[in-house]
Amino acid sequence: MVIIMNPDATAENIKAVIEAVQSVGLAAKVMEGTQQKIVGVLGDKTKLGSMAIDAMEGVEQSVAISKSYKLVSREFHPMSSVIDVSGVKIGGDEPVIMAGPCAVESRNQLLEAAEIAAKGGAQFLRGGAYKPRTSPYSFQGLEEEGLKYLDEARSKYGLKIVTEVTEVEAVKPVSDFADLLQIGARNMQNFRLLKEVGRSNRPVMLKRGLAATLDEWLNAAEYIMAEGNQKVIFCERGIRTYETYTRNTLDMSAVPAIKHLSHLPIIVDPSHGTGKWRMIKPMSLAAIAAGADGLIIEMHPNPAKALSDGPQSITPEHYYETMTAISKLAKFLKDEGINPLND
Ligand code: PEP
Ligand code: MN
Repeated sequence: MVIIMNPDATAENIKAVIEAVQSVGLAAKVMEGTQQKIVGVLGDKTKLGSMAIDAMEGVEQSVAISKSYKLVSREFHPMSSVIDVSGVKIGGDEPVIMAGPCAVESRNQLLEAAEIAAKGGAQFLRGGAYKPRTSPYSFQGLEEEGLKYLDEARSKYGLKIVTEVTEVEAVKPVSDFADLLQIGARNMQNFRLLKEVGRSNRPVMLKRGLAATLDEWLNAAEYIMAEGNQKVIFCERGIRTYETYTRNTLDMSAVPAIKHLSHLPIIVDPSHGTGKWRMIKPMSLAAIAAGADGLIIEMHPNPAKALSDGPQSITPEHYYETMTAISKLAKFLKDEGINPLND
């Protein structure tokens, strides 16, 4: 349930509402909008019994939340959230770009990729140190050694780090090195892992499961937020359909859908979404035009030699070209006052 306060409600009015909610053992969370404040109520609202919250001073109305996910929902938090990740704002005016190789393969490869990522204008360097591979015989990642290279690249090029955490035991070491924890598609419904990152103090990028519905995805985010971590970012990375030409079917409609259902930011991964480097530029532009808050793109200094996901990794040249096109499109939308979404 959310309690919408009048625009002229006083601090005392809000305090009285919070106290009333807490007096029956429910939790309250105040959210500030541009016009008015909203008090979110968590827990079994029948505990409020006959308490007439709507009649309290300063209250405009109380609204029940119909969804199984609450903290994630826009009903609970009507204003879009901007998530601060080590000083970079995701969900604000500018799209945020994360670029880098699928996997950290060596110190040289990673530092080279980081230099290119920074030169092209990305704010984040991506690179998996723990790799969830489909085949047990494929390269599994450098693990802690890979984290050290990511750390070095961050200090050398001033980039933030996003990297995947694949198991509960790895949450601590990865949180020590990463600015943003990535939960991969294969782990979207690994509820123990979701709870563990929910207890960590690092923001989380939650990728959509291989065949997850939007409802399942939103509930997965609720697992993280219910543990106290309010910094969650969705990442659409394509879903399994009958189409085999592309690796996955990139569901661009997930962008406006998530924006409508949730206050959290959403970024798009055109690399896993298509599996084809030729599609990265057009799908990146489409994502920005659809209202995405950013992109995560696989780029490799030499894709032909990549130990994983070479066919969907763009070359440095193609990366620079894509970045120029993205920033021109973003500037055009901003200058023309075009908001791709209906809010
Ligand atoms: C990745 O980002 O390299 C990755 C493994 O992605 P996904 O979980 O979307 O398959
Ligand atoms: Mn990959």
